[in-house]
Amino acid sequence: MKIIRSPNAMAAWRERLIYEGAKIGLVPTMGALHEGHRALIQAARLRCDALVVSIFVNPIQFGPQEDLAKYPRPISQDRTLCRKDGVDICFEPTVEAMYPAGFQTMVTLPALACRWEGEVRPHHFSGVATVVTKLFGIIRPRIAIFGQKDFQQSVLVQQLVKDLDLGVEIAVHPTVREADGLAKSSRNIYLSPDDRIRAATLHKSLQAGADAIRTGITNGKTIRSAMVRVIKNEPAMTIDYLTVCDPRTLEPLSYVNSRAVLLGAVRLGPVRLIDNLLVASSQRSSSRIEVFSREKL
Ligand code: AMP
Repeated sequence: MKIIRSPNAMAAWRERLIYEGAKIGLVPTMGALHEGHRALIQAARLRCDALVVSIFVNPIQFGPQEDLAKYPRPISQDRTLCRKDGVDICFEPTVEAMYPAGFQTMVTLPALACRWEGEVRPHHFSGVATVVTKLFGIIRPRIAIFGQKDFQQSVLVQQLVKDLDLGVEIAVHPTVREADGLAKSSRNIYLSPDDRIRAATLHKSLQAGADAIRTGITNGKTIRSAMVRVIKNEPAMTIDYLTVCDPRTLEPLSYVNSRAVLLGAVRLGPVRLIDNLLVASSQRSSSRIEVFSREKL
């Protein structure tokens, strides 16, 4: 496995790979790799010739009060996992190389980026959209894999690729969970042992919403109430948002006619947890939906 730290060196390798006719696949990450990331890497491995994993804690997607400085960076452990999973290139650019003095272009998606996560984290998605655009420019992948765990991000990236004709196939991989349903996340290590047990409540709340839909309830407010009720039973948890949305537009749904995404974000001690479930009123559980594209929704 090659470790590449400069965008120019990465671009030189990309040229060589493309010249050789290789299909380049990319899994963008911020490192602190866990089973969720590894599922994306393993899925990507099967779908490309040359697999690049980027590890970059992107400062411009963090707000001033957020955890940029203490975000975990176990780089040698990450490299070991990448080697195990057959990654060809680990791209670990420095902040200075990605955002040199004079850098000014930002990519914004005004409608999709201002809702839900964007309301709580105002500059987050322009930071994400900008770094994804840069990574696509440097690496020129034919396919990139993102996690459903960050549902809004996956919708936004698909919109970005479409709007800017970036020509990258975007695949979205289902969320990998702990046994109790908690979505795996690099930030779960900050949960105290008690909070770790409580943390599964977010998934339970989304499941309560999905159960309501499966039993034939279509009213968005009623479905949301079913979710809120579960969180209210856990006094240590506070809600940032819990919502029933159209999975393509992320607009709240008054009524669920076909598919919906249940989106949730809560705070538990110092940790913010996000999660989601895709559900269809035709009784299909989201856990059975494998890789989906926005066009298929
Ligand atoms: P991050 O390192 O948090 O930026 O995540 C990198 C990629 O891994 C993103 O596309 C995430 O959606 C995805 N990801 C993170 N956690 C999970 C998980 N538990 N299951 C599936 N994908 C995940």
